[in-house]
Amino acid sequence: MKYLPLRREIIRTVRSFAARDLGVGSAGNLSARVAGGFLITPTGIPYDHMRAGDLVELDSRGRRRSGRLEPSSEWRFHRDIYGNHADVGAVVHVHSPFATAVACRRESIPAFHYMVAIAGGSDVRCAAYASFGTGALSRNAIRALRGRRACLLANHGMIALGADVRAAIDMAIEVEELARQYWLARQLGSPVLLDAGEMKVIREKFRRYGKQQR
Ligand SMILES: [Zn+2]
Repeated sequence: MKYLPLRREIIRTVRSFAARDLGVGSAGNLSARVAGGFLITPTGIPYDHMRAGDLVELDSRGRRRSGRLEPSSEWRFHRDIYGNHADVGAVVHVHSPFATAVACRRESIPAFHYMVAIAGGSDVRCAAYASFGTGALSRNAIRALRGRRACLLANHGMIALGADVRAAIDMAIEVEELARQYWLARQLGSPVLLDAGEMKVIREKFRRYGKQQR
């Protein structure tokens, strides 16, 4: 089977969503870029029953290349993210509880903590609402992801991007933790926000730190 190690990594990762507090049941989906397209989880199959051959391969226009099952209903934003972010190799979408709670207020996560910069800017934007699975939702997500590695989706959940599956799931975990901390901080009142200059300094530090790690 083509891309077997990658298929196995995708399935291992979606099965880990619940253990990582990224949501329960079969909500959410994951894709990874392959030459000329991407592999994506199918719709309607519980993660525990999902097999490597159930993943659907779509081309860069969203047309099926292989796989018998229907792709995730959110294949449009996966396709459009790969088209708009040349350096992204994997996309995670989850309905994790704290990110979703913030998204249900249609609020972005502001610079309440310096780690917000990990997503690429001074906030994690919340994309405007549109029905799941639509081109409108994809357009709203693309707008919210400009210059970012993650966004919230109003009344829905979040999207996290990475160079590979590991980086994308790590970003999803970071954003969920930030949403949890933000939720906690809001219980005490309005958190003091960091200014744009400081967030720029932090982004630069992350950029250098990342280089030393590799
Ligand atoms: Zn969803």
